[in-house]
Formats: sequence, structure tokens, C-alpha cells
Amino acid sequence: MREPSHRAVCSFAAMALVAMSIRVLAQVAPAARHVNQQRVWETLQKLSEFGRNPEGGVSRVGFTDADVAGRAYVVSLMREAGLEVRIDPAGNIFGHRPGSATLPILLFGSHIDSVPHGGNFDGDVGSLGAIEVVRALGENGITTRHPLEVVVWTNEEGGRFYSGLFGSSVAAGLVPGDVVNNHDEKGETLALWLKRLGGEPQRLLDARIAPGSVAGYVELHIEQGAVLDEAKISIGVVEGIVGISLRTCTATGFANHAGTTPMDRRQDALAAASRAVLAVREEVRAGPGRQVGTVGELKVEPGASNVIPGRVTFSVELRDLDAAKFQFIGERILKRFETIAREENVSISCTPPSVHAPALTNVRFKEAIRSAARDAGLATLDLPSGAGHDAQNVARFAPIGMIFVPSRGGISHSPLEYTAPDQVANGAEVLYRTILRLDAELNSQ
Ligand SMILES: [Zn+2]
Repeated sequence: MREPSHRAVCSFAAMALVAMSIRVLAQVAPAARHVNQQRVWETLQKLSEFGRNPEGGVSRVGFTDADVAGRAYVVSLMREAGLEVRIDPAGNIFGHRPGSATLPILLFGSHIDSVPHGGNFDGDVGSLGAIEVVRALGENGITTRHPLEVVVWTNEEGGRFYSGLFGSSVAAGLVPGDVVNNHDEKGETLALWLKRLGGEPQRLLDARIAPGSVAGYVELHIEQGAVLDEAKISIGVVEGIVGISLRTCTATGFANHAGTTPMDRRQDALAAASRAVLAVREEVRAGPGRQVGTVGELKVEPGASNVIPGRVTFSVELRDLDAAKFQFIGERILKRFETIAREENVSISCTPPSVHAPALTNVRFKEAIRSAARDAGLATLDLPSGAGHDAQNVARFAPIGMIFVPSRGGISHSPLEYTAPDQVANGAEVLYRTILRLDAELNSQ
């Protein structure tokens, strides 16, 4: 670049100063905060005592004593915040705050159960952030038009008796009533633990939430990935929860003696499967976008060092916000498998995919979150959620929105999971403002 004249340097410097002072002004005069950072942080600290693990995180697995104790603490917080608490037959905790009009409920919350050896933020930030929003509304003397409900869903992580998202799956009508007979190796049943949580196993299906009764659902959650942390952006506006396509594929060759079978006579199922693993990666990477694909499971038979593998069973999992995209990539992968099978003199067959459809967040909700963040002086970034959340089940009966806050280093499901106090408060503040925006905008003629 050409050296600027002295005069130009001066005026550049002056302009830079002006620009800087505008930025500084924006920083020293932040938008008013409604939530109380210290209070929400203290409740997070207190909740982390229930099921604390030696590594400093929590092992508060759903349907365990630690879960029961943590839930009791959260119920006490809800009552302190003035919420009327009810536990539905599936053990989901709802805290009700009346509205001024006869309108469907605005629902927000998350979960407090964790994975074994988990951290103190996954689910907890959204649950306690939601309660903080209610406290702040009370302090500001605000009555919303819509009745508000804070929800803590049961057994989100799927620790015991059922795969993940138990409570919201029941709410969405996705679970058969006899699931309560599920039991562990000790003979303890889901029904027993549901009762301990205050649920009613014999009325489980009554926990279903009818479409139309909820005006919308907003979930605040840690990102559990590194996008926001690396971009140094406070708020993620979730575009949706990615769908999953899962196939089980089998490469069948011929198991034979590893010493006596010449290399050109082999039908090595593992050699073929290895090429298939790389083909999955290549096909997923072939186009633009944020789709991901994983071979995470591989079973080699007979599995002996001196036998050529005769059969390999492996998983092929694809995820994206767009179901059409993973269908297209899946078809390309199957074509590649055909070629590999021919060249390796084996057969490769795959089951039809089992598909979890993507759950897109609502356009108005995304806009409400963006505006709320802007009003709070916080930058946003749109991003998909690669992890599953209760919101994806709620999407079956109500419009949804999700707010992400950064996860340090993208680490989650680990005691090292961390989101700083100001980042937690940013998320709660955006939730507060989002709820008020939606309360004003939804069902208004
Ligand atoms: Zn979670």
C-alpha cells in the first residue's frame, strides 16, 4: 500500500478515534440488563452440588437419587420465583405464571439431568435461565398477555429406561404407554422411578400436549460446539435441529485362512468396509454445506488375527438440516459402495435408512431472538444444532426457537464443560427479551 501523507495520517487517526469512541460508547453504555447475572450463576453453582462427580462436573443421570434431589431444588426455586408448580404424569416439571389474556401458553425451559460424568451447563443454563427470567419479570412488575410456563423436561439425556428426550417425547405423543414397564438389570422399573419423580405411570399418556395449547417454545442452551466460542459471538440463533439418517450396512466376503490364501484370491470384507468408510467421508465432503457423516460402529467377523474377515457390519450416519440433502448424499454413498463391492469381490448391502426428520425453528422466533439480542447489544450468528434437544419434539405441537450461548472450546458432556457467568447472563437476558417480544407479537390481531 502507498504511504499516506502526514496530513492524511492525521485525519485517518482522527476518524479512527471517532470510530473508536463510538465503539467504546457502545461498550460503556450497554443496554439495560433485566436478569441478575450473579443470582443465576449462584443457582447454577448450587445445582451443581446435586450429583457432583469427583472431576468437578455432575453425574445427575435421569431417574436416579441425584436427579430427584436436583429436581427438588429446582422446584423450590420455581416456587420462590412465584410460579405455581405442577408435575405431569411423565415427570415433566411445569411452573405456571398467569397472563392477562386468555391465550395459549408461552413455554420455555430445558432439562437438568446429565450424562454420566457430565458438566454443569448442559440443560442447566436453560432451566435456571428460564427461572431467572421469571424472577426478573416479577421485579420489573411485568404481567404478560400470554400465561408463561417454565418447563424442566424429564430424562433428556436418556440415562436410564429409555433413550433420550423422554419427557418431551411423551408430551409429543411419541411414546407408548407400556414403556413404563421398561426395567434395568436390578428389576427396577421406569414406573417406579416416575413415581419417585412425582409422575403417574398409569396415566403416562395424559402428559401429551395438544397442538394449539402452546403458543410457542423457546429453549436456551449451551452450543456444545465451538462455533460461537471461536467466532467470539455471544448469541447463536438456532436454525433448527439437524435430522439424522442411519443405515446399517454389511460387507460380506469370505472368511479364509490368513496364511494360505493368496492376496489375489481374497474376498476381504474389512478391506472393502475400510474403503466404504472413506467413501462416506468423501461423499459428505463433496458438496458445500454443513452436513456431517460418520461411520461410528464397525463389527468384524470372525474377528481373529489369523482369519481374513468374512463379514463386517457398520453404521452410516448422516446429519443435516435438510432431509433432501442427506437423502441425496445417501444415494451417492450407496453407488460408491456398489463400485467398491465389485472391485473387492464382496457384496455390500444396507438397510433402508431410519430417519429422524430435521426440526426447523420458526422464522418469527428466530427474528425475535435476533432483535432481542440486538436490543441487548449482543452479536448473533445463525447456526444449526448438531445435537438433539427437547425442542425438536416440541416442534411437533408448537413453533419453536432456540438460543445458544458459547461453550468454551466446544467441550460438552464432560466435567470440562464451561460457559462464563456473563455468557450465561447474556443468554438469559436474550431469553427475557425474546419472551416479551413473542408475547407482544404472537396472537395479536
Ligand atoms: Zn442438553
